[in-house]
Amino acid sequence: MTSLFSSQVRSLVQILKMFNVPSRSQHVIPDHIKEIADEVSPKFFEMVSYFFHSAAAKIEENLIHSMLAQKGSKLTEKQAKARVTGIFALLQKCLYVGEFNFPIRRDDGRYEVIEGYRAQHSMHRLPAKGGIRYASDVDRDEVTALACLMTYKCSCVQVPFGGAKAGLKIDPTQYSLGELERITRRFALEMAKKGFIGPGIDVPAPDMGTSEREMSWIADTYSKTIGYKDINAHAVVTGKPINQGGINGRAQATGRGLFHGVDVFIKNSYWTDKVGLAEPGWKGKTFIVQGFGNVGFHAARYFVRAGAKCIGVIEVDGGIENPEGIDPMALFEHRKATGSIKGFEGSTDMEGDELFYKECDILVPAAKQLVITKSNAEKLNCKIVAEGANGPTTPAADTILQNRNILVVPDLFNNAGGVTVSFFEWLKDLNHVSFGRLTFKYEEDTSKLILQSVAESLKQHFGEDVPIHKSDELDAKLQCASEKDIVNSGLQFTMERAAMNIQEVAKKYELGLDLRSAAYISSVTKIVETYNDAGLAF
Ligand code: GLU
Repeated sequence: MTSLFSSQVRSLVQILKMFNVPSRSQHVIPDHIKEIADEVSPKFFEMVSYFFHSAAAKIEENLIHSMLAQKGSKLTEKQAKARVTGIFALLQKCLYVGEFNFPIRRDDGRYEVIEGYRAQHSMHRLPAKGGIRYASDVDRDEVTALACLMTYKCSCVQVPFGGAKAGLKIDPTQYSLGELERITRRFALEMAKKGFIGPGIDVPAPDMGTSEREMSWIADTYSKTIGYKDINAHAVVTGKPINQGGINGRAQATGRGLFHGVDVFIKNSYWTDKVGLAEPGWKGKTFIVQGFGNVGFHAARYFVRAGAKCIGVIEVDGGIENPEGIDPMALFEHRKATGSIKGFEGSTDMEGDELFYKECDILVPAAKQLVITKSNAEKLNCKIVAEGANGPTTPAADTILQNRNILVVPDLFNNAGGVTVSFFEWLKDLNHVSFGRLTFKYEEDTSKLILQSVAESLKQHFGEDVPIHKSDELDAKLQCASEKDIVNSGLQFTMERAAMNIQEVAKKYELGLDLRSAAYISSVTKIVETYNDAGLAF
């Protein structure tokens, strides 16, 4: 009996070999990574590794299979497997991590040594891309994890870049404007000297604690020093002010992308039924946002514009609640005037922690990593978690949320709007012309001619003038076309296409609510294909 069984297995393996179908996935998840599944506060880099490994384990077999099935492939099964294993091994590491320590002079005459990092996780596409973070708790673990996330993020939304990230261990609120400028320019110079930035190598952007102001200093420093001969020098960073080569719509892009990301799922009854929302659509949906920075603020604006109600906002110094709804724009003005979101008219001041667990339809963590963990995931009282921050949910929390039928729209997809528009900005810089400049007038004239032709055809047919009315929408599109319109439609297209792809993967691998695995699978698959087609090593 046993020998009959084993001979059947042997012949099955032979049949699979005949069709080049590998028999079984061999991807081994390292033991220390396996343990992350249950940890309350995993190390950030290991947490991203965990997500990568879980996806890798699910797709290894298919990747080998499609390598063998590729037209003209002369690979043996063993070679294909070695290649996939090699690419996976490479993705487990950051290719380059630079640690920078440089002195600056403070306004009071003291000298201080500033610590910083730039990590380049993957350069399978160039340049590598990712923001620069200024925060007092920045360390190597955080920067490398964020660099990995950038690789997967770019691939997820088909932005043809590698992944990188930088961090300076400073609290920017403790430095004067002049000090910040000296720090930023010096950091830019140090990175450039070591080949860590360059328009075709590695292109930073804003992240927590930085903005277009810092990007402008970096572009200026680079173009006046190492990049002085390079006509594309300003493409060394994105997220710049418009007059420095920035692009319209970049500042809002991450929040806007977040809106489009959630929009796909909230309008689809398949997902809203799964999480128990009464009906699809934004109207009347309540949400709470953690972090009222660039991401949280703009996302809140777009959510409200679509018909949702912001019932709570959480910031570092506490939160505010208003079941009747908070106007994000008015809150922005209030904070500008008072320095805090607290004391906002019509709202009640709350402890941030308390508000995080209040009942709402959508919770938007748009502040920091590791905020939804094994110890608080049970307490969340929402149907959808829309990740705006990078890495807000740990693997253990992710599992709890799935078991509770809460849909997590994952960071690597959901906050990719920023880097998507960074890509557009980079293209604009290389082209040295803004989008639409050569085509707006041509398109307007063509549209007018089409309308004219239609009018003439109708006249010929009916023997009399038939008035053609341009709708207000068409009129506005023809007359007020702007770079921002093109950027926004490109962003929407990118997010919707990625969402479609993620849903297809979720279906194919029967992942249920686990959109994170679907996004990682979609992303890692493309990276492996790119490495495979280019050749992994000499
Ligand atoms: N810092 C942003 C992010 O985490 C933007 C990166 C970029 O535009 O390069 O996605």
